[in-house]
Amino acid sequence: VMTGHEKIDYVFKVVVIGDSAVGKTQILSRFTKNEFCLDSKSTIGVEFQTRTLTIQGKLIKAQIWDTAGQERYRAVTSAYYRGALGAMLVYDITKRQTFDHVARWVEELRAHADSSIVIMLIGNKADLGDQRAVPTEDAVEFAEEQGLFFSETSAFSGDNVDSAFFRVLEEIYGVVS
Ligand code: GDP
Repeated sequence: VMTGHEKIDYVFKVVVIGDSAVGKTQILSRFTKNEFCLDSKSTIGVEFQTRTLTIQGKLIKAQIWDTAGQERYRAVTSAYYRGALGAMLVYDITKRQTFDHVARWVEELRAHADSSIVIMLIGNKADLGDQRAVPTEDAVEFAEEQGLFFSETSAFSGDNVDSAFFRVLEEIYGVVS
């Protein structure tokens, strides 16, 4: 049981990026609040949410940043990436274009983020398998080429969301500890 008075050992900043409407905000609220909001659209100005968890006996505060819609104008600034130790790069498995843009997002990360950043490629909306436009193998191949972790998630059902974040946070812990 967390009383809120424990001493935080580490704060890990993780950014969520990817095209508009792939489910970034919903993945974040699933992970930090275990919620999925049907009337989606995060308030502009709310920059991050946190969740505190334990990894190898250490208390870690995960600070998860949302672009708050900036990506629509291709205006994600370098300030957004500053200090980020992890990135969740999200596409929508039902929208091929959002996967075709993933390479651009990787370039953006390589240009603006720390070179040791841990990147997880996420194919979201896995609950919509009957509308799938991106075969899992295509994403696996891209992730292997680029040295990214990969998972398919559903913010709607919650499938794989926690495990994807934990994977990244454990990896970051391995880098910083
Ligand atoms: P963002 O622009 O990337 O932050 O995307 P949002 O989180 O606002 O989600 C865009 C739309 O996709 C909203 O209508 C969400 O309800 C919907 N959505 C997000 N994640 C999922 C998911 O895992 N499954 C389904 N079926 N819909 C989702």
